[in-house]
Amino acid sequence: MQTAHTVEEVRELVSKWKQQGLRIGFTPTMGYLHEGHESLMRAAVADADKLVVSIFVNPMQFGPGEDFERYPRDTEHDLAVCLRNKADLVFFPSVESMYPPGFHTSVEVESLTERLCGKSRPGHFKGVCTVVCKLFNIVSPDFAYFGQKDAQQLAVIRRMTADLNMPITIVGCPIVREADGLAKSSRNAYLNAEERRAALALSRSLALAEQAVRKGERQSAVIRDMLQAGLAGEALVRPDYIEIVDAGTLQPIERLEGEVLLALAAYVGKTRLIDNSLLTVSAAY
Ligand code: AMP
Repeated sequence: MQTAHTVEEVRELVSKWKQQGLRIGFTPTMGYLHEGHESLMRAAVADADKLVVSIFVNPMQFGPGEDFERYPRDTEHDLAVCLRNKADLVFFPSVESMYPPGFHTSVEVESLTERLCGKSRPGHFKGVCTVVCKLFNIVSPDFAYFGQKDAQQLAVIRRMTADLNMPITIVGCPIVREADGLAKSSRNAYLNAEERRAALALSRSLALAEQAVRKGERQSAVIRDMLQAGLAGEALVRPDYIEIVDAGTLQPIERLEGEVLLALAAYVGKTRLIDNSLLTVSAAY
């Protein structure tokens, strides 16, 4: 496994691999790696010949007052995780090299970014799309892997890649959870014991809502009320949004049918967590 800190090092290595006809799989991350990230790496290793992992806490996707400064970082741990998941190259760009003085270009995906996290985190997806576009240009992967945990991000990246004719296959990977259901997240490290217990309200509410859909409930309002009641049961949990949307367009729907996303964001104490459930709902009932 090699590490690189500059764009030139990455380009040199990747072009050598490409000359050999090897296919590149890429997993962009912000580090503090957990089993969710590992699942992306495993998927990449299965599909591609070489795995590139990037570790970059991207200041452009954090809003004022968000947790950029205190976002957890642990390079030694991350390197060990990359090594055991057979990464070939770990790229640690510096903020200065990604955003040098005079940097004035950004990538914005419209419509899909208006609701859900885009509404409560203005500018977030502009930062995500810009950095992912840059990383794609640097790494030029054949496949890139993103978690369904960040469902809106996955939809936005798919849109960007298609709209800008990027020759990259975007692969979505299922949410990896703790044994008790909490979606794995680097931000779970912020939770104290009481908040950690309260945070289960997110996955628990989604599981109950899923069950109701499976039993035949098709009205969004009813499912939304269930999710709201589930979150309201925990005093430490303050919902940011509860949305039931078409999984493709991310537009709200009145009746559940087809590919549907139940999406939540909530503050648990001061920590903002997201979770979701992607359902394929038959028209029956
Ligand atoms: P992050 O380091 O939080 O920016 O995440 C990097 C990638 O890992 C993104 O594509 C995330 O969607 C994905 N990811 C994070 N947590 C999970 C999880 N629990 N399950 C699956 N993928 C995840």
